[in-house]
Amino acid sequence: MTTPEAAEPTATGYEITRTECKRCGSEVFGIDGRYACSVCAWVNHWSEGHRALPEARDDADCPEK
Ligand SMILES: [Zn+2]
Repeated sequence: MTTPEAAEPTATGYEITRTECKRCGSEVFGIDGRYACSVCAWVNHWSEGHRALPEARDDADCPEK
């Protein structure tokens, strides 16, 4: 789930958020309300994010255009 963008969220305008893993209770940090637990691999549903997902055409690095 790690992306190059996640490495420097403040530079790209993302907001770092935190929550408690719903499966194992570990503290999990995410971006804009999206989480992936590094302990048990729990991830929340994408629709729980705070903003709409970017589309492929919005990604300058997308290889499919
Ligand atoms: Zn977990």
